[in-house]
Amino acid sequence: MHYQKAKYLLGAAKISQLPADEGIEVAFAGRSNAGKSSALNALTQQKSLARTSKTPGRTQLINVFTLDEGARLIDLPGYGYAKVPEATKLLWQEELSRYLQERQCLRGLVLLMDIRHFLKDTDQQMLVWAHEVGLPVHCLLSKSDKLKQGAKSKALLQCKKQVSELHPEASVQAFSSTKKHGLDQLLAKLDAWYAS
Ligand code: GDP
Repeated sequence: MHYQKAKYLLGAAKISQLPADEGIEVAFAGRSNAGKSSALNALTQQKSLARTSKTPGRTQLINVFTLDEGARLIDLPGYGYAKVPEATKLLWQEELSRYLQERQCLRGLVLLMDIRHFLKDTDQQMLVWAHEVGLPVHCLLSKSDKLKQGAKSKALLQCKKQVSELHPEASVQAFSSTKKHGLDQLLAKLDAWYAS
């Protein structure tokens, strides 16, 4: 897959505004500040690809990027965003769970979590939803450059253990957008999903 060809297609406030449910989608999700935009930029080698998702007031949108023919990259809204009213958060939870549970063309979910603060409640919820519908998940423990080797290995092991209790088939890796560490492993996972 040519990820550097990623192009912004549209922002959808509701599932009904998404493109037809065909082809293949892979979605990125994570709490605000987990490093999702940075990971998407590193993956696509575009400095500001995910900037659109960051425009104030547009955080609630599902952003859709096209890749090769029939393949799309989905940037789900950063959850746990403090400045969004509670009612909007609840609405979003519903849309998000519906997207994860009903979207037929969705082949996998990349879940971004800061390697120093993984598996918050909302992350656990995502894993449970995904497991319920048999959706594959790949956890990216972001900002791995912030930890020394020993602490990094320990966090990785601990996270793998906890993740497997919620979603036994989910995979976990350390990742650093800044240092581009773990990019090959991520690419291999995404390529496998897009080929599935
Ligand atoms: P998002 O809200 O999940 O899209 O998070 P961002 O990608 O905007 O990142 C949040 C903050 O973490 C920013 O200040 C980034 O510069 C920083 N950040 C993201 N990825 C990394 C990383 O791999 N290493 C380090 N050291 N900082 C990172």
